[in-house]
Amino acid sequence: MSGIIGIYSKDHRDISKIMYYGLYALQHRGQESAGIAVNNNGYIDYYKDLGLAYEVFSKEVLNRLRGNIGIGHVRYSNESETTTINAEPLVVGYKQGALALAYDGSLVNFLELREDMQDKGVIFQSSIDTEVIANLIARYHKDDIEQAIIKAVRDIKGSYVLVIMTNDRLIGVRDPYGLKPLCIGKLGNDYILSSETCAFDTIGAKFVRDVEPGEMVVIIDGEIKSVRTKEAEAKNICLFEIIYFARPDSKLDGKSIYLLRREAGRNLAKECPADGDIVISAPDSGTVAAIGYAEESGIPYDEGLIKNRYVGRTFIQPTQELREQGVRIKLNVLKENVEGKRVIIVDDSIVRGTTMTRIIEMLKNAGAKEVHVRISAPPVKYPCHLGMHTPKKESLVAASKTVEEIKETIGADSLCYLSLEGLLEAAGREEIYCTGCFSGNYPVEKENK
Ligand code: 5GP
Ligand code: MG
Repeated sequence: MSGIIGIYSKDHRDISKIMYYGLYALQHRGQESAGIAVNNNGYIDYYKDLGLAYEVFSKEVLNRLRGNIGIGHVRYSNESETTTINAEPLVVGYKQGALALAYDGSLVNFLELREDMQDKGVIFQSSIDTEVIANLIARYHKDDIEQAIIKAVRDIKGSYVLVIMTNDRLIGVRDPYGLKPLCIGKLGNDYILSSETCAFDTIGAKFVRDVEPGEMVVIIDGEIKSVRTKEAEAKNICLFEIIYFARPDSKLDGKSIYLLRREAGRNLAKECPADGDIVISAPDSGTVAAIGYAEESGIPYDEGLIKNRYVGRTFIQPTQELREQGVRIKLNVLKENVEGKRVIIVDDSIVRGTTMTRIIEMLKNAGAKEVHVRISAPPVKYPCHLGMHTPKKESLVAASKTVEEIKETIGADSLCYLSLEGLLEAAGREEIYCTGCFSGNYPVEKENK
């Protein structure tokens, strides 16, 4: 998962600060690295580093990055190593000029493509999918960049959203399944591409529409045009975008993430009632579903855990001694609300099970009488090879354990998950979602990755 923004300013305004605030709004999509590339009359300048957007960019750097076209990226940590070399945008120079690329997704034929290129003598600096795509584009680019991108995209398989900047245009591409999100906005005469609509609100832009699966949009000379890269397949939007990744104030393919999560919480209360005195959430991802659960069940919602949101890269991990003292740095219990109570805690998902185990221990230590865990999605049973970056099957607690066994493992008094039907019902009963991590059915099968 990554967050991407691209801007084409027809009015030639300086866009690096706007992009910075856009990245700031997309920070939830990736905290490992941040970068911005801008185009100043055909010359591409960029800056990227490890850390959160506000840690990476100083006023001086933003003042230096001048230009009227730009792309920005925040990156989530996945299998690729955490090094500055893997930060994006990737800026490459080749025979036809310079390109900057920002990418969100996961290619299933990455190794195959990369090994094939290496056999032909291509040298790679990074270990990211983006560099393979850049090489494909360079290889196919004779005199038409759009055709080169279309050809490159035909060679790749998996989930992808690409935002590409050349010396004269901004291009956005969405995979034929629409697994990853990309939408178009407008700020005055300027076009913006963004992973999520929340970035438009932050910078004062208006939402125009989502990029369609299999569509490429090209913004040149201040105008936008639409080109098909591939025939659109059946839509397969990642369900985890809705459950966890996207911000609740975003709309994804026309749907409000907030309303959908609240509805999932209501369905959860119907399917998994519990006798309790208070509904709390595992912040922040469980909050909206917890509100829905409280609404439906009639049991009051209140705060039970307080989260410190200011954890950047410079965060110093606590020493063993501090850990033993039970120092609660990221999450603390509001004892006043849970002591002596039967607590219903709602979260969006259990992946490894470590977060919930810790939370239950904290709640019990604070005097909670009972802890009933309610999850607003089904058990995550299958590792994802399309960009969710779930751990290997062995680390997914629901891959090998029954619900009863998970309940014992995490130390809950009861545990219940929303059914896939209940979740899809909340999402509007449309068959437009990839349910792979819950069902094992992926639209694109795994290759040797
Ligand atoms: P666990 O400790 O079970 O592995 O993680 C579950 C918690 O992590 C849940 O609170 C959920 O909101 C959050 N979560 C789910 N998917 C992801 C993910 O892909 N990345 C991160 N950082 N957290 C996730
Ligand atoms: Mg969470």
